[in-house]
Amino acid sequence: MALAFDEYGRPFIIVKEQEQKTRIRGLEAQKANISAGKAIARILRTSLGPKGMDKMLQSPDGDITITNDGATMLEQMDVDNQIAKLMVELSRSQDYEIGDGTTGVGWGTSRAGRATIRTSLISDLVTYKFRAFGSNMHDHPVLKNCKPVQVCLAEISVKAVLSVADLERKDVNLDLIKPKTKHKVEIDTVEKFQNLRQQEQKYFDDMVQKCKDVGATLVICQWGFDDEANHLLMHRNLPAVRWVGGVELELIAIATGGRIVPRFQELTPEKLGRAGLVREKSFGTTKDKMLYIEQCANSKAVTIFIRGGNKMMIEETKRSIHDALCVARNLIRNNSIVYGGGSAEISCSVAVETASDKYPGVEQYAIRAFTDALDAIPMALAENSGLQPIETLSAVKSQQIKENDTHFGIDCNDVGTNDMRAQNVFETLIGKQQQIYLQHKLLR
Ligand code: ADP
Repeated sequence: MALAFDEYGRPFIIVKEQEQKTRIRGLEAQKANISAGKAIARILRTSLGPKGMDKMLQSPDGDITITNDGATMLEQMDVDNQIAKLMVELSRSQDYEIGDGTTGVGWGTSRAGRATIRTSLISDLVTYKFRAFGSNMHDHPVLKNCKPVQVCLAEISVKAVLSVADLERKDVNLDLIKPKTKHKVEIDTVEKFQNLRQQEQKYFDDMVQKCKDVGATLVICQWGFDDEANHLLMHRNLPAVRWVGGVELELIAIATGGRIVPRFQELTPEKLGRAGLVREKSFGTTKDKMLYIEQCANSKAVTIFIRGGNKMMIEETKRSIHDALCVARNLIRNNSIVYGGGSAEISCSVAVETASDKYPGVEQYAIRAFTDALDAIPMALAENSGLQPIETLSAVKSQQIKENDTHFGIDCNDVGTNDMRAQNVFETLIGKQQQIYLQHKLLR
């Protein structure tokens, strides 16, 4: 390696390439993989749980991201090691399938890497049914406490999910909740048009006439239209939104019950959408304007409007909302829950420990090592909350065994009880299962 300086005097390191790099094998390779896993774990560990800390990440081109979302952190880390890359993949997969629990996957996986057993041994995971569905579901206190978001974000998210949920089919299409993109209303531009070409004039005339004939009172266009058309529309008192993104146009069509027509000749009265009120709103001192389309025929498309002091806050809020939407959606898909605060991991750990006794050979060591991996989650939660990790874990573990009750976990917020049921701290069963499943996948 050699130290050099660029034209601005900034130091950089020149690494002499390939010939010095040798492929490592066997024990050395295993050690390298374990230490890569550990390095990732160290980074994620302090972000786990309600008292986890945010991380500030800087991209090579200087962009800053502030987050405590495991998937985002791993995504932005430029990792080189294969095991580390696998962990990034697993976290991404948890994000894709479940949308939450990504820090837990990354962290738990790195711990689980130390053991080599099949997680099918974990059969004693106690699950509970979450029965709170119905029209007043969003009032349910349990759902409001749903991790990982604050009550207000949770409420917004639950409302949004319920508005678009298909409760009969137990499914939620999150595509119906999408952030808006920018669009502009161009009805107040006053421009003089002279010397309009005859043909164009007729074309636009026909177009506007057609819109009016079918009874349209507002025109929304995806790819924008000419100034001339805009002028004519304005002239004929037909308000128009000149440019809307494809996704938004689809959502507007769904919400208003309208049909998107590729050519205005295809317009018919039945294809028109309906909304009670369309208004434009501007915010504070910013020049941003938003178009509100309200009282729609079909309310199965919603928009969550996020505002914030800076881009980083908005991005992190978006991520939190995404997690919250996923938790609410997962509960609609499958209402089984396990209790959180590490209580599920502790009960699994106890179960695995008991099971390990049945294996007389060296396997027992590997099985026991997996209990360490499970214990790592409650330990990290305790540590991040300022508690003594080992003492707290052993106290909660013995409490679970003594009282034969799997609700006990880590009282991260110092509420005064470590009964997670009493605290309403729970996680979806499918989320937890997927976490353990993905960790298991890495081991095979
Ligand atoms: P992930 O990205 O894995 O979801 P989080 O940072 O959201 O990571 O932390 C999730 C962990 O924090 C889970 O084990 C969950 O049970 C625990 N947790 C969340 N809220 C509480 C709470 N109020 N008390 C105790 N544990 C909590």
